[in-house]
Amino acid sequence: MKKLSLNKIVLQPIQINHFKIDVLRLDLIHPIVSGNKWFKLKYYLADFQTSSKKTLATFGGAYSNHIVATAFVCNVLNIKCVGFIRGEAPKTISSTLQNAADLGMQIQFLSRADYLAKDELMKKNNEYYWIPEGGYGRLGAKGAGEILEQINTVNYSKIICSVGTGTMIAGLINQKESAQEIIGINVLKGNHSIHSEIENLLLNKTSTYSINNQYHFGGYAKKNNELIHFMNLFYEKYKIPTDFVYSGKLMYAITDLCNINFFKTSDKILVIHCGGLQGNDSLPKNSLSF
Ligand SMILES: *Cc1c(COP(=O)(O)O)cnc(C)c1O
Repeated sequence: MKKLSLNKIVLQPIQINHFKIDVLRLDLIHPIVSGNKWFKLKYYLADFQTSSKKTLATFGGAYSNHIVATAFVCNVLNIKCVGFIRGEAPKTISSTLQNAADLGMQIQFLSRADYLAKDELMKKNNEYYWIPEGGYGRLGAKGAGEILEQINTVNYSKIICSVGTGTMIAGLINQKESAQEIIGINVLKGNHSIHSEIENLLLNKTSTYSINNQYHFGGYAKKNNELIHFMNLFYEKYKIPTDFVYSGKLMYAITDLCNINFFKTSDKILVIHCGGLQGNDSLPKNSLSF
């Protein structure tokens, strides 16, 4: 299989309050296929290539990192792909979808009702190789678990990441050392099914983990001035850019948890920065200083 070329893995130590934290800068591995997206896609792509299907299809929103990452990887690997996008076609399409279309992805809009009936669409169109929304599934989790093999992670006591579909955290839980605690910062509000979605992907159902629901800022892709202000301050202080959907909320959460001494002094903390910076294109110009 032709390979995507990725930048080398960077681990950046920072200090918040008196806690020393290592940030795994997966935002830097690729400008478009950043963060966990390549890891979540790799086993689907390998499976696609051994299948008899000719076209790959997946789902996402208008600003989806998963959609643009899939479009990019399919372009590199010369795979035909279709992106089914939530919502009616707008007058002007988002820069994310424009990028995906420029990379050769066929974009098809679905009404909210049709989008909710995704399973029907998948059943009806079995000429496609389907990757579920956000890469959710066992193959996605298997690839995401390999994030912990990129550096030596065995000595961390706490590993913290943001949670969207729960695929990445499931992979991390499957891969972790037994004494390690994985903490997910949920960027969605009130999605009570997240635990069962994660648990469906776990190899060992007794694995423990925790999900923190305190830092969603009103829900998925919701934001306020406090979050944007924080992202600018965080960049000023550590030169780490974040996005307002995932990594901004994650870093806000870590900072707050350090400030309230949620961690023990003896904890060794790893934070996984999954990038997603292209999503900031949907913010008003000049909101961010980076
Ligand atoms: C996709 C994404 C996530 C969420 O990953 P899930 O596997 O869906 O939970 C987190 N952070 C960033 C930046 C992402 O792009």
